[in-house]
Amino acid sequence: MDISKFEEFISQYPIYEYRLLDTKEMEVRERVRIICSEDCERYGSTWACPPGVGTLEECRNKIKSYTQGIFFSSVAEVSDVMNMEEMLATRHDHEALTTEVGRFLEEEGHEIFILSTESCDICEQCTYKEGKPCRHPERMHPCLESHGVVAHEIVEGEHMEYNLGGNTILWFSLVLFR
Ligand code: SF4
Repeated sequence: MDISKFEEFISQYPIYEYRLLDTKEMEVRERVRIICSEDCERYGSTWACPPGVGTLEECRNKIKSYTQGIFFSSVAEVSDVMNMEEMLATRHDHEALTTEVGRFLEEEGHEIFILSTESCDICEQCTYKEGKPCRHPERMHPCLESHGVVAHEIVEGEHMEYNLGGNTILWFSLVLFR
């Protein structure tokens, strides 16, 4: 990837930090998926969540089938970080930004696969529970955790910011490419 061209591209967006990662170094963790199954009400409700995304092994293989990934954060401000509804509303801008990063890489000739935030809420009613295919597989971004990727582990390893404090939120995405 042409880094200077990428930097020029992202300068028009509120990307807070980014790192270029080699997927050989990336780990997937079973424990994240256990948290999904035990603590997340969205578990088993969309194609963007486990078990709909496949087994951990399948997720690992999918990640490793791409050579590199852009891991990045964007920052959002809310009036109250304890207000979950307000916080989640800021996620859509980050998802749009993630789509733009993916589009840039595709235009550069790469095949991409995007992992992003939370579960998918594109459709009012997901087809997952009806056993029908996803309506928008090209738009849908499974969440990082669904694939066993631990964002804060990458953040620590790459010396990035995980929390800016105050009424700010950092959202993270990983755009894999080959
Ligand atoms: S795009 Fe629609 S069908 Fe596909 S995962 Fe999202 S909500 Fe479900």
